[in-house]
Amino acid sequence: MKVLILGSGVVGVTSAYYLARQGHEVTVVDRQPSPALETSYGNAGQVSFGFSSPWAAPGIPQKAVKWMFQEHAPLKIQPKMDPTMARFMMQMLGNCNPERYAVNKERMVRVAEHSRACINALREETGIRYEDRQRGLLQLFRSEAQVEAVGKDMKVLEQCGVRHRLLGGDELAAVEPALARVPGKFVGGLHLPDDQTGDCYLFANRLADHCRERLGVEFRFNVEIQRLKRSAGRIESVVTNVGELTADAYVVCLGSYSPFLVKDMDIRLPIYPVKGYSLTVPVTDDGGAPQSTVMDESFKVAISRFDDRIRVGGTAELASYNLDLLERRRATISMVVSDIFPEGGDVAKAEFWTGLRPMTPDSTPIIGATRVDNLWLNTGHGTLGWTMSCGSGQLLADLMSGRGPAIDPSGLDVSRYAA
Ligand SMILES: Cc1cc2nc3c(=O)[nH]c(=O)nc-3n(C[C@H](O)[C@H](O)[C@H](O)COP(=O)(O)OP(=O)(O)OC[C@H]3O[C@@H](n4cnc5c(N)ncnc54)[C@H](O)[C@@H]3O)c2cc1C
Repeated sequence: MKVLILGSGVVGVTSAYYLARQGHEVTVVDRQPSPALETSYGNAGQVSFGFSSPWAAPGIPQKAVKWMFQEHAPLKIQPKMDPTMARFMMQMLGNCNPERYAVNKERMVRVAEHSRACINALREETGIRYEDRQRGLLQLFRSEAQVEAVGKDMKVLEQCGVRHRLLGGDELAAVEPALARVPGKFVGGLHLPDDQTGDCYLFANRLADHCRERLGVEFRFNVEIQRLKRSAGRIESVVTNVGELTADAYVVCLGSYSPFLVKDMDIRLPIYPVKGYSLTVPVTDDGGAPQSTVMDESFKVAISRFDDRIRVGGTAELASYNLDLLERRRATISMVVSDIFPEGGDVAKAEFWTGLRPMTPDSTPIIGATRVDNLWLNTGHGTLGWTMSCGSGQLLADLMSGRGPAIDPSGLDVSRYAA
């Protein structure tokens, strides 16, 4: 089957890899000059299967009100609200109860745990490296209240069979030695030893090279996708600035821009662009830098180690598709990394970046068929798209090939929003 993948972020590239491996003739198109130049470029680098949790959770609405008055808050909402943002916030609120949280969490963990198996096999098969490390994630707590609150997350981790260990403040440096230089800052931490770290941009580019060289995937860049053309209930072609492109099947992997393309097909995707920021800091002292990923629970900032760089990512800002680099957001993530790893890197020389998380109100990606025969979706990966990309791509390939899927796909396709 000839498959056209729309979008070459990490989700488009992993989809191409798994579809090509199953024998399909795959082409990927993107408006950028190379893969992963939008949201997949500068994310926080955590490949955190065990950390997959919906943002919409019980207690979040109350916390959100408090965050509105904090300088370094994890959530920022622009004062001018548009109808799409208002609808998204209402849908998020509808998911902030224990029942929805449990359903959404199970779906996320299902995809994330499959991703763990898939990315490990992918590394083995392709031999690609992306400044990756397999040394776990450490969630850091600044207060006893945070330690108490993690109890319910640990119950879910137990149910899902995810290895984890609650550490006291004096045990943290055994996992991240640089924390010995800031004694007393944290009262404890949750260690997830099987999580991973890596540069998503490098991963997507090296996997794209592998797809091109070994699997015959064609990549077409600098192509602006404009609209879909439908005839007799099927997609006939994709209209672009370089003409119409045709295939037997089409996969939408356009991240935050996916809703625009499919709305003419009467498919409403509740994906909202949740803006985040990152800093990429050159390492100046290996002993003062993190060795893997740490997550500061107070500020919801993740800090990951690449070879000679530290990636710091965080902040959820609701500001539509605006990509301005705001200095006050830089101040927050810069403050957090300097507070935890004061001697690790040179924040003055950091690269500042922003990207739009393609967020669904239930935090779960949208993977599967649509009511249009040959139109498929693999999008809406929100906060953990790098983590979930391999599992999503593999599942999509199974579904498109008509194979028995490797994991249960129920509740993952777009029809869940119709219910
Ligand atoms: C600050 C921040 C930190 C994050 N940290 C993590 C993390 O630590 N771990 C993790 O797992 N996830 C993280 N994420 C989330 C993760 O980065 C995303 O979920 C993921 O990159 C989404 O990938 P994607 O391929 O769906 O979207 P994208 O990477 O945005 O790809 C979409 C592609 O579609 C193309 N496109 C869009 N419209 C058109 C058009 N009209 N014509 C042609 N091409 C088009 C774009 O050029 C782009 O290449 C983070 C995100 C942010 C913003």
